Parts: sequence; C-alpha cells; structure tokens
Amino acid sequence: MNTNITEIQEVWKKALPIISKSVSQIFYDVFIASLEPISISDNKLVLIAPYESCKKSINKSYKPIIEKAVMQFNPYIEGIQIITTSDVDSFVDAPKSIIAEESPVVEEEKKPSSKDYYTSFEESYSFDNFVIGGSNKAAFVAAKTVAENPGIQHNPLFIYGGVGLGKTHIMHAIGNYIKSHSPKKKIIYMTSENFTNDYIDSIKNNNSNDMNRQFRNKYRNLDVLMIDDIQFISGKPSTQEALFHLFNELYQAKKQIVFTSDCHPKKIDNIDERLTSRFQSGLTVDISSPDLETRIAILRKKAYNKKFEVSSEVLNYIAECINTNIRELEGALSKVIYYCTLNNVKANNLDIVNNALKDDIDISGPITMSSILKCVSDYFNVEQKDIIGKKKTKNIAEARQIAIYLISDLISVPLVSIGDFMGGRDHSTIIHARDKISDLITTDYKFANYIKDLTELIKKK
Ligand code: ADP
Ligand code: MG
Repeated sequence: MNTNITEIQEVWKKALPIISKSVSQIFYDVFIASLEPISISDNKLVLIAPYESCKKSINKSYKPIIEKAVMQFNPYIEGIQIITTSDVDSFVDAPKSIIAEESPVVEEEKKPSSKDYYTSFEESYSFDNFVIGGSNKAAFVAAKTVAENPGIQHNPLFIYGGVGLGKTHIMHAIGNYIKSHSPKKKIIYMTSENFTNDYIDSIKNNNSNDMNRQFRNKYRNLDVLMIDDIQFISGKPSTQEALFHLFNELYQAKKQIVFTSDCHPKKIDNIDERLTSRFQSGLTVDISSPDLETRIAILRKKAYNKKFEVSSEVLNYIAECINTNIRELEGALSKVIYYCTLNNVKANNLDIVNNALKDDIDISGPITMSSILKCVSDYFNVEQKDIIGKKKTKNIAEARQIAIYLISDLISVPLVSIGDFMGGRDHSTIIHARDKISDLITTDYKFANYIKDLTELIKKK
C-alpha cells in the first residue's frame, strides 16, 4: 500500500471530530488531542502518545471508538496501534514498521555507476540507530519519506535545530538508506563550507564561463544534494547566487534537496531573500531538545551498541543530569564507561556516575524523587514530612498520591524504591495511588490541571 504521511495526517484530522463526539471533553483534551499519527504498519494506524498513562487509558476504554472512526476514511486501515516514545525503539527496529512511502523496488547494481557522486556516509548514523521522540519525530518521518522516494515529496526538506540534536545524523541516515536501496542514485552530502570552498576553487581555477559550466555540471546531474549547516552561507553573496541557480535547476528536475541549519530559514542573517523563500518552499521541520524518556532511550541504545552493560538506574540518572543535547549525553555515557573500564567496576551505581562526571559536567538540578516531592509540597502548601507520613487528611492524601503519580510518570525508578522513598509504603499502595490519579486525570479537570502544572514546574526546576 502506498500511503504517505500527509494522507495519514488527513485521515487522522477527519477522524478527530467523530471521536470527539464519543468521548468526554476532558478525555479528548487531555489524551486524544495529544496523539500524533506517524505511519501505517501492518494495516494499523500507528499513533504516538506522549506518555505511558495516556496510551494505557486509551487502550483501556476507547480503542474501538478510535478504530471505527479512522477506518471510515481509509479502507486499508484495520485498526490502530498506540505507542509511546519508549516503544519507538523496538518499533523502528522492525523492518516494516515505519512507513511513510513504500520504497520502489530498485535493482541492485554491483558497483555504483558514478563513484564520484558518492560521499561516504558514517555507517552508524542510520535510521535504525536514530531514537525517535517527540522532539525529533517530525524530522525523522520527513527524512524517511525523502529517503524512500527522493524528489517526490518534501522538496526541499529543511531541518533546523540546536547543536548536537541529530541533524547531521539524519542526513547521513538519508544517505545510507539511499545508497543501500537505490545504489544508482547520485548523492552528494556536504557542509555549506565545503560547498563554498568548492565554488571558490572553481572560480580560481577557471575562466568565468568554464567555471560556471564545470561547477554546474558537477552538481546538476545529482539525484540528491544535501548541504549541512547552511547557515554558514550567510554573508557570502556569490556562493548564495551559485546556490540559488543550482537550486532552481535541481528543483525543476525534481531532484531532492535537503538542508540543515541551526535556525529557521527566516532567522539566517545576511542572506538573499530569494534563497530564504526557496528554503521554505518544501517542508521545514525542527528538532528540539529531547525529553527525559527519549534521552533514556538514546542512552540505552548507545550502551547496547557499545556492548557495555549499564544498569537502568545509571542510564536514568545520566539522562536526568544531562539535558542539554545528545552529543553531551553520548559524551557523558562514554566517560562513565571509560571510568568503569579503568577502575574495573560495573556501571551499576550512582556514585560511579558522580565520580566519572564530576569534573566537567554540571550535575546539579536533575529531576529526582526529592525534587518532585519538594515541588508537590510547595504547590499544595503541604509539608514534605506529611506527604511521606501517615496522615490521611484529604489534602495530604491527595498530595501524596499526586507525588507518587508524578514520580512514576517522570522518572524511571522501580516501584519498590518509590515505596521506600514515600515513607516505606509497599508497592501495591504505590500502584493503587498511581492508577487512581491516572484515572482521575481522565475524568476530572482539576486533577488534569494539577498534573499539567506540576509537570511543567518540575521540568523547569
Ligand atoms: P547536529 O548535527 O544536530 O549538531 P549530530 O547529528 O552531530 O547533531 O548528533 C550528535 C550526536 O548525537 C551524534 O553522535 C548522533 O548520532 C547522536 N544523536 C543525535 N540524535 C540522536 C537520536 N535521536 N538517536 C540516537 N543518536 C542521536
Ligand atoms: Mg551537524
């Protein structure tokens, strides 16, 4: 089946009003509205939920209603599958799982036809090794679509976002994918500095007519041109001019163009407006900083790839401490592994992380059980010792249950540890409190808002 992401979104958009008639307003606002369709896999519409309790609540009560609604708009859809960012890892590993467009069957050639056009791509920067979360999902899906059918949709694809968030990885993933699925296609990946240098060299070495011809001939026969960190073209009018003409030529020939930048095209200074508008004429998507769940999933994957056993507690802790970017996250993991190898110890307790990272990483201010407890205590004006104590007064008991819910929702700690922390309660009490709040936020606006406010407050700390 050929279904692209726009069609998938269209189906979802049409289904939403129908779903809204069959569920409570609260449930719709809190849960349904937060779902995002990403693909169709095994005839199921795959929807990403922002967190586990959202997925559970929908699966528990409303799956058939959603299925009935989406099936009306696409005859191929036979059901839905709700996943969260932590499922995405295994989901992506399954070969058929993410589809945006099915790739055409391409006859494999033993040798690439024109070696010159290939840039060697970093093998580990593949789609399979890219962990998806809310912060990068749109860029991932768009890049996969482009890799599967270059030049058909999203042209140009413009990905922007801060440093160390995966832009270069995604470009290499596109390159790796096309290289292995369509080896005849001619691809160039380059940084915008390489592009500028190439252009300047062509001016230096040739008279102007020759220069134009040679430079253009090199690029105009491409199937895919990817330029990384295009913001560096700022303030270079002649390179911009060359890019402008090349862009038009490739675009008209329906050849795929991909750019990345550290900011939105509109924010690039000193650039010809004609180029800014070309940059935005296809699909512009951003990558932002990953949330905690995604950071944990990334660390888990990296540790697995490095074949080094790191306990979940340690992975969670590193992910809590490092919330800047993924490059730093990876660096921190490497340091911990190096420290463990050097000292011949296992990566299984937090003191090791503190020692390994103490010199150069700011490990203050992660979300911890204590920081959550403090926020809840401040928010409800209830003393911390009462929250973890035995009092059963309504406001104290509510604050207690909310703290338990937030701890289990925001950080990955075993239920037993939550029980210990919350004044030595057993794990069935913890499950009861967690599930009770999880139900209440689907039926009671007051609780839905408490959780929303507190989650924001805790993450800001
Ligand atoms: P950028 O180009 O945005 O500065 P990179 O693509 O160089 O960032 O990414 C920095 C590092 O983080 C790379 O090693 C990359 O593999 C890793 N990385 C980024 N995003 C992800 C992700 N979603 N999953 C796994 N690794 C990632
Ligand atoms: Mg980069």
